[in-house]
Amino acid sequence: MRKVAFVFIIAIVAPSLLLGWLAIRSIRDQQFVFEHQETLLGQGAADAIANDLLGELAAWQRGFGRQVEEALGKGEPADLAPRFDGVLRERWTNAVVGFVVALDGDVLSPSLFGSADARRFRLENDRFLCSRQSMEVVWNSPKGKINLTELDSKLKDSDSKSVFATKNASASDAAVAPSSAQFREIVGDAAEGTLARFLQNQLRLLLWHRSPRDTNFVFGAEIHLGHLAQSLRPLVRVDVSLNDHLVALLRDDRGRTVAASRSDVVLSGQRPLASAALWDALPHWEVAVFLRGPSQAIRSAATARATIGLLVTVLILAIGVGSYLIVADLRRQLLLARQKTDFVSNVSHELKTPLTSIRMFAEMLAEGRVAEPEKQRRFLDIISTEAARLTRLINNVLDFARRERGEQRRLFVPCDLAEIAQEAVNGYRLHLESAGFALACELPDGPVMVNGDRDALAQVLVNLIANAEKYCGLQKQITTRLVLQDRFAELQVLDRGLGVPSGCEEKIFEQFFRAHDALASGIPGSGLGLTLARQIARAHGGEVTHAPRDGGGSVFTLRMPLSSSTAPAPTQPPPPAG
Ligand code: ADP
Repeated sequence: MRKVAFVFIIAIVAPSLLLGWLAIRSIRDQQFVFEHQETLLGQGAADAIANDLLGELAAWQRGFGRQVEEALGKGEPADLAPRFDGVLRERWTNAVVGFVVALDGDVLSPSLFGSADARRFRLENDRFLCSRQSMEVVWNSPKGKINLTELDSKLKDSDSKSVFATKNASASDAAVAPSSAQFREIVGDAAEGTLARFLQNQLRLLLWHRSPRDTNFVFGAEIHLGHLAQSLRPLVRVDVSLNDHLVALLRDDRGRTVAASRSDVVLSGQRPLASAALWDALPHWEVAVFLRGPSQAIRSAATARATIGLLVTVLILAIGVGSYLIVADLRRQLLLARQKTDFVSNVSHELKTPLTSIRMFAEMLAEGRVAEPEKQRRFLDIISTEAARLTRLINNVLDFARRERGEQRRLFVPCDLAEIAQEAVNGYRLHLESAGFALACELPDGPVMVNGDRDALAQVLVNLIANAEKYCGLQKQITTRLVLQDRFAELQVLDRGLGVPSGCEEKIFEQFFRAHDALASGIPGSGLGLTLARQIARAHGGEVTHAPRDGGGSVFTLRMPLSSSTAPAPTQPPPPAG
């Protein structure tokens, strides 16, 4: 049994649990891969939008350069410089202020006495543009170096030469982290660039351009951020195939949404899937990409987890129930196998005893060793009783075998239960009385009609009387009593014998079960008598029950429904069982 359980655990339970665990782990890994792919997708979308936006800024830069060149026309930068603010704003509405700085440090435009914006600009930027003060800026000079031989010679005497030279080396790289720098070192030897400053927490974006005609002048513009946002707006969009899943936002330095790829989606407090900063030109601005609904990866992982979880639970339950059923069946089979072995040895034992006595007495009579007629009759009686016992045993076994094969056929006819009882008792009387039994038979006066198979009912009673004889112990008293109860007849066999051990009251009706073991108690038996008695009774719509008898012994009762043709007899109070 233990071995079977061990094999079962090793072969079925452990691999199933391992498979379940592996399935759950693989879902976790899958979810991780899904999420990673989703993040990559989002990052790709954010980077693509950021690139487009930077491209648009580069277009603004080029546009500004064109404006400067066109404004210059064939004239000299020195001539245009003082008028530049007015000229630029007239030509290019994207400029809030136009400025010109000579590399020797003079701010040539806008005029301090110009517009309010011009005055503000000068106040905010003069010291920085004149390179008298370093400022916290983010700058970007995307274009390569220009020929600055002349400039170099001019700058030879400059105070900030060393700083300038150092920065110059990296001027063509995008310097995208905020750092402290002077305007002149930012400009370096580049032809154009952008720079961003935060003043009173307000972002100011400046574009600058140096005309190849005279690189001593840096033309610049503070640009209108509202206009810039307007032109960036259409670029904040995601690929059509991803439009249902992703939403992209352009957010400014204060976290306000400047543009969105869809206006119909509300994102409350959701964390972005990916983001890309626009440091190069617009510090603290970012493109943030969100998932529209709950992540597909999380949804599919949750569904898969629930499905696998359910499957594993069902599997474990099935294994549990299966194991229970297998173990229970195994137990039943083992018990049955043991009972069958016991049955064979019991039946052999029960066959051997009467056969031995029959043979012995028959031989004695045949050899003429018994002369007295009285003794001869006694021996013949013994032979016939033992033969009857053999017949009963064989009948029981055959009946049981027929029933097992489903071949049992019974002929149900109205019959008198009192008559059956009387005949069975009479058939046994001689044998029992000669064995020293006091046999009483209490029957009602009239017939007690039941519908049934006469022989089968007689077999029940004979089995019950034979048991009363076998398990009689020292008090050899047997009473057979037939009483009427409502619409039932109760045929009782009472003895003062060993009684049924407690806990076995119902088991004694199971096939092969013996409460008094043949070998231990010396009482022969097959464990089939009561099984058959109950089966026969039930086939008649009745029952066989056991009850302990007051004062010791047992009461076995065959309860049979009265035949409908019989008028119910007046109820008799049953005589006390004791
Ligand atoms: P068996 O051939 O062993 O008598 P039965 O099916 O007739 O088989 O009875 C089953 C068991 O019930 C018996 O082995 C015995 O232990 C118990 N039993 C039956 N009748 C009696 C009785 N009158 N008194 C005590 N025990 C009984």
